[in-house]
Amino acid sequence: MAELDRDALRREMTGWRRDLHAHPEFGFEEKRTAAFVASKLREFGLDDVTEGVGGTGVVGTLKRGSGNRAIALRADMDALRITEQSTAAYRSQNPGFMHACGHDGHTTMLLGAAKLLAAEGGFDGTVRFIFQPAEEWGKGALAMLDDGLMQRFPFDEIFGLHNMPGLPIGYFETRVGPIMSAEDNFEIVLKGIGGHAARPHSGNETLVAACALVTNLQTIVSRRLSPADISVVSVTELITDGTRNALPGLARILGDARSFRPEVSAEIERQMRIIAEGTAAAYNVSAEVTYTREFVPLQNDAELVDEAFAAAKRVLADVGVAAEPMTGSEDFARFLDHVPGCFVFLGNGKASAPLHNSSYDFNDDGLLHGTNFHAAIVRQRLGGEAGK
Ligand SMILES: [Zn+2]
Ligand SMILES: [Zn+2]
Repeated sequence: MAELDRDALRREMTGWRRDLHAHPEFGFEEKRTAAFVASKLREFGLDDVTEGVGGTGVVGTLKRGSGNRAIALRADMDALRITEQSTAAYRSQNPGFMHACGHDGHTTMLLGAAKLLAAEGGFDGTVRFIFQPAEEWGKGALAMLDDGLMQRFPFDEIFGLHNMPGLPIGYFETRVGPIMSAEDNFEIVLKGIGGHAARPHSGNETLVAACALVTNLQTIVSRRLSPADISVVSVTELITDGTRNALPGLARILGDARSFRPEVSAEIERQMRIIAEGTAAAYNVSAEVTYTREFVPLQNDAELVDEAFAAAKRVLADVGVAAEPMTGSEDFARFLDHVPGCFVFLGNGKASAPLHNSSYDFNDDGLLHGTNFHAAIVRQRLGGEAGK
């Protein structure tokens, strides 16, 4: 089959990426994005394109040869509720929303891989192109799985990638085992008796108790968990019903915890309950803890990490081992409850603003690198000619 002109593909992909960037959509509202993806996949001549999987998810299937193995590649499509600071011609046309995590770039790189593999082949088996909704919520992968993804579009293994600000363009990084953390959320409600600011002794106000509790929660990581276990407990909000000259009878403490093993997540919750109840008792108020698990930890399969490195070395400029796991979270981890997989990082350039920053922009110079990696891993794992 004729080889696609890579320069022309890169220019075309830059156009797609900027179009997607200008039209960011929030999780489960990616209607325009999903329609864009599905129409491109049909234009490339895939064997099947199914929309509406898990809400706004799209699955494309491409078969070549007679091989019975299937490999999945996954991209995320959703944007964030952030107001973009940009003067670029392709800046967000959807006020209050922007692609601040580069999912416009991930979607484009996977579309590029679909176009390249449909045109050139070079593998024997089935490729599933999975475009998931609502990654930022941690709900989109589960929605697709609950909609029968594994039964309707079975695959043996899965790969995904995320751009990474600070790493050079063309640089590839991953690691064996834990690479992205679990995310848990918590809310602690303290109830007492509010009253006149001039007569604190006549009630049981909750603000001083809440301040003590925020301080005591810092001892979960520093004094109750092993230093060998990476974890974070962050209080992010303290809200009371107090006002000028009235002490609050209610206080809410909200926050976020990260860890890499389910046992550590369970221990954070257990210690949080002990500390909340003990502190509340000391201040003569009551405490109610709600603890939820939003993202599970992402564990890379050792053999597939080796495979990813081998594929990356053939098509990318520079390859390295990620020194330590990141305490960010990724919905990709949900697919790994069903099949082994590997998640990797690709540089977004040293000058890139951080992810989720209002000045962030995906670097189009990285597009072809991601597409080349996707194609190389497919050809390597599905026994085709050496990928390029
Ligand atoms: Zn994000
Ligand atoms: Zn992201």
